[in-house]
Amino acid sequence: MFQIGQIYSRTDLHRAHGGQPQGGIATPRGFAGVLLFTGEGGQRYGYRDRWDGDVFRYTGEGQRGDMTFVRGNRAIRDHLQDGKDLHLFEIEPEGCRYVGVFACGGWTVERGPDVDGSDRSVIVFDLVPQGSRSDEAAIPPPGVPLEELRRRALAASAPVVAPHTGNSVHSFRIRSRQVAEYVVARADEHCESCGSPAPFRRTDNTPYLETHHIRRVADDGADHPRWVAAVCPNCHRRAHHGSDRDELKRRLAERLASLEGTTSA
Ligand SMILES: [Zn+2]
Ligand SMILES: [Zn+2]
Repeated sequence: MFQIGQIYSRTDLHRAHGGQPQGGIATPRGFAGVLLFTGEGGQRYGYRDRWDGDVFRYTGEGQRGDMTFVRGNRAIRDHLQDGKDLHLFEIEPEGCRYVGVFACGGWTVERGPDVDGSDRSVIVFDLVPQGSRSDEAAIPPPGVPLEELRRRALAASAPVVAPHTGNSVHSFRIRSRQVAEYVVARADEHCESCGSPAPFRRTDNTPYLETHHIRRVADDGADHPRWVAAVCPNCHRRAHHGSDRDELKRRLAERLASLEGTTSA
């Protein structure tokens, strides 16, 4: 996909992927990602994006009045449910420098002026940088029924509808783990791609499977379980690097859709 540190022309980005060439948040149809732009020229009024420890605090969009969860703001809040990555670009004089892929860990509301100078509420998202954490495969807690694990996973992957109070990175990790635990339990010791038994057991005798996110680039985050599969390490590498990865993805998507009772999108 995008190379971290590389400069892209915004015009080219939208030519390739679609989406609105203006504004800070672009939501191209048919592309499994939301493009976020930070810096001067992002055209978000009164933005105050900044790093705060491990999270990047990203101001939502909206010129006048209170910011609400529509369009770009909704796309950021619900990106895991939508199976979309958040790609952050920093606007520089030469173009847009790719910062990397992020996930929304939560959001808060601050006060600030709108374009007319009136005081209004401003949504600020906590964006958590994403890496590949697939080798930290989840181990379902023993004795918890699958239905209960599924209930937790669905709750974890639901949009965060209240501003967070505690550490958003921590709660993001917990929610990611709850989804992974359910998915591994759902797989019942077999790879959801090739159907083979887990290739080996860990030292604690639990079967080894990895979680793979079929829609997003990052293998991390509380995506809806229809976008996450438990797979053997071989299928996992193949899903990322194989020449037949698109076919693999299509079959996996169908299988997950039937398991989760939803149609594949
Ligand atoms: Zn497999
Ligand atoms: Zn993966």
